[in-house]
Amino acid sequence: MGRFDDERQEMVALLKDRSITDARLLRAMGKVERHLFVPEPFTSRAYEDSALPIGKGQTISQPYTVAFMTQALGIKEGDRVLEIGTGSGYQAAILAELGARVFTIERNLDLLAGARKLLDRLGYRVVSKGGDGTVGWTDFAPFSGILVTAGAPQVPQPLLHQMDEGGRLVIPVGDMDIQDLAIITRLGDRYEQKQINGFKFVPLIGKMGWQ
Ligand code: SAM
Repeated sequence: MGRFDDERQEMVALLKDRSITDARLLRAMGKVERHLFVPEPFTSRAYEDSALPIGKGQTISQPYTVAFMTQALGIKEGDRVLEIGTGSGYQAAILAELGARVFTIERNLDLLAGARKLLDRLGYRVVSKGGDGTVGWTDFAPFSGILVTAGAPQVPQPLLHQMDEGGRLVIPVGDMDIQDLAIITRLGDRYEQKQINGFKFVPLIGKMGWQ
């Protein structure tokens, strides 16, 4: 048995109670060791259902939020997924564990370096770069899924154009304090949108985000 195995399974049980039904996702969240992705002083709190500081004024998202957004993305094995806001690398590890081909962008180079090192050590093959993710990543587009893990003032247009047919974009949109989660599906030239209220993310800063 590894360190925190029981706590991690309790976290998974809580996610099940809170409407997370995707069995593959629950398995992935039961496998990825969240305590490795948080700084030392917070290790013992890694399996609480809360966001935690990761340095540079940023956070690792709450496990329920990670699960909810990933479930909303509805990805299949082999799908190309773009994540904007690598942070600790935890969400990227969950996507990789689900068999996605993961591309991730982080504007803070120190956070990116830490996430890269950890993802490499754990054997996750994730393509990453430092920079402004609000303009997407044209070199690898189109994507079956785009996941934005910071709150935007509006949906960045370049991301809509980098979605594959039938692809999904999951992004928190609102003001600096509170956002709604937009779940957008591309159907040919049309975009279908659902909205879920009441999420709280750090701001998405960039050309098509907050200045
Ligand atoms: N997904 C992360 C994880 O699993 O730890 C949590 C990310 S944290 C809530 C949001 C991240 O988005 C921060 O690390 C922040 O630096 C980054 N960010 C903000 N604006 C960005 C942008 N325009 N492009 C890329 N990253 C951005």
